Amino acid sequence: MALLIIDTEACTGCGACVDVCPFGALEIIEGVAVVNENCTACGACISVCPVEALSLPEAEEKPVTEDLESYQGVWVWVEQFQGKAASISWEMMGQGRRLADELGTTLTACVLGEKMDRVAHEAIAYGADRVFVADDPTLRVYRTEPYARILVELVRQYKPEIFLLGASSRGRDLAGAVATLLYTGLTADCTGLEIDPETRLLLQTRPAYGGNIMATILTPNHRPQMATVRHRVFEVPEPDFERQGQIVSVPVVLSEDEIASKVVDFIVEEGEVNIADAKIIVAGGRGVGGPEGFEPLRELAQVLGGAVGASRAAVDAGWIPYAHQVGQTGRTVRPDLYIACGISGAIQHRAGMSTSRVIVAINKDPDAPIFDIATYGVVGDLFQIVPALTEQFRKKLKR
Ligand SMILES: Cc1cc2nc3c(=O)[nH]c(=O)nc-3n(C[C@H](O)[C@H](O)[C@H](O)COP(=O)(O)OP(=O)(O)OC[C@H]3O[C@@H](n4cnc5c(N)ncnc54)[C@H](O)[C@@H]3O)c2cc1C
Repeated sequence: MALLIIDTEACTGCGACVDVCPFGALEIIEGVAVVNENCTACGACISVCPVEALSLPEAEEKPVTEDLESYQGVWVWVEQFQGKAASISWEMMGQGRRLADELGTTLTACVLGEKMDRVAHEAIAYGADRVFVADDPTLRVYRTEPYARILVELVRQYKPEIFLLGASSRGRDLAGAVATLLYTGLTADCTGLEIDPETRLLLQTRPAYGGNIMATILTPNHRPQMATVRHRVFEVPEPDFERQGQIVSVPVVLSEDEIASKVVDFIVEEGEVNIADAKIIVAGGRGVGGPEGFEPLRELAQVLGGAVGASRAAVDAGWIPYAHQVGQTGRTVRPDLYIACGISGAIQHRAGMSTSRVIVAINKDPDAPIFDIATYGVVGDLFQIVPALTEQFRKKLKR
């Protein structure tokens, strides 16, 4: 990774860079700035240095702006944690397959980790024609440097025209690092991917301006065209374990000694919920009136075997933790049943749940926008309707 270059002759040790560094990567030692391994080469310090003593190394490679036709094929990074592939990657494979078929080209999966045989074969079942597998103890847990360096080397060698990653925490991190090192464009958090039939360009659609418009973004002059896509926007395709594909083993680029970051432990957050995978969600908004207003929703969710979601208004009010938030700045969900209680249906909330199979809206206001997308709407007080539903479901489901 690129690190900051400090001209120690020019540096006066004023400390301006230390103050602005968002990563605590700079300190003044014996009158000059010193950079440590926290540096991400973000460049925030460069513009504040009054004596121009700071710079970044020259790009290892210039951006690809010529011979774009030599870039062919669609690639997907397959994310794994503790040897198990993330479902977001299979959603990406479904889209990758569709785009590759439209372009008349191949789909390649990139699998990085340790003991990745099973994941590599799954990638073929989910649509890959070819799987690059980097299998090494240094890749057992995700770290930006070794993962990014392998993908960058592969892109330089094999030249894909499109590279897709899931917009998970790791995917967002990796996509940014890879796009930066390749000097190409990246559209984050897409909700739609299409091919322009005339130009073969990838049309990358995502919400913009606080979710009030949908912007379609192109990468016309650089390759690969890179995009991350949010979890649950697309369906996971049916795997076909009879499918045949090619598995290509690829070497690691960095040895353990060359990797600055070490993963010491994973700590699971207490009370963590995964609403993204829930089949049924009972969600509450400002209309629940306070933290205790979620209680009837929890009961209904429990009887239905579902999870509790929330609007940002409820989360911002501190009534329920952020992990429950559905929407543009929360989770995207795609359950079979979404029951929205006391939620008005702002566009930013809908961005995270409108693809739910069945939407039931409970709201006092008959003109609430949530009713525009609801499969079934109940106009009334949630504190009467939700307990009545719980009682009926309890009888029917005997829970
Ligand atoms: C950049 C940006 C990102 C955002 N991201 C998100 C996001 O990720 N998720 C999100 O949800 N929002 C998000 N928002 C906020 C969003 O615009 C709305 O402000 C928010 O969704 C409103 O939440 P709400 O529907 O709970 O509250 P309100 O809009 O206040 O609606 C409350 C509803 O409850 C009904 N009600 C009240 N009492 C009862 C009752 N007893 N019974 C039945 N109904 C009742 C009312 O009629 C009303 O319709 C974002 C905004 C911006 C600008």
